[in-house]
Amino acid sequence: MSETVFSKIIRKEIPAKIVYEDQWALAFEDIHPQAPVHILVIPKTPLQSLAQATAQDKELLGHLQWVVAQVAQSSGLADSGYRVVTNVGSDGGQSVPHLHYHILGRRALAWPPG
Ligand code: 5GP
Repeated sequence: MSETVFSKIIRKEIPAKIVYEDQWALAFEDIHPQAPVHILVIPKTPLQSLAQATAQDKELLGHLQWVVAQVAQSSGLADSGYRVVTNVGSDGGQSVPHLHYHILGRRALAWPPG
């Protein structure tokens, strides 16, 4: 996988407002928030998107979803609700080719998305 801005955030080469970190995952505030709470959860290992995930990634994917729920809880979103989005590829609108889950919350979100 090619180097991305998220690789630099993982290595702490560029700043980010980190809200959670463990051995496998990092969560930080999105630089262009689309909701009052907008956090990205990413794996530390290079995986471009769900489209590139293999059976070997199943444990990591489960862990990332657990991190999403923990971060949403610690951000005070569990009661009011929130949305979790991962954009895949060009039709999905993915702009950074490093798997990431958007957590969006603290406002009512429209459906369907654009
Ligand atoms: P995508 O469009 O790939 O689903 O989402 C990429 C997200 O990464 C966007 O919401 C964008 O605002 C965010 N982003 C891009 N560059 C940076 C950065 O340098 N720092 C942070 N914190 N977020 C970024």
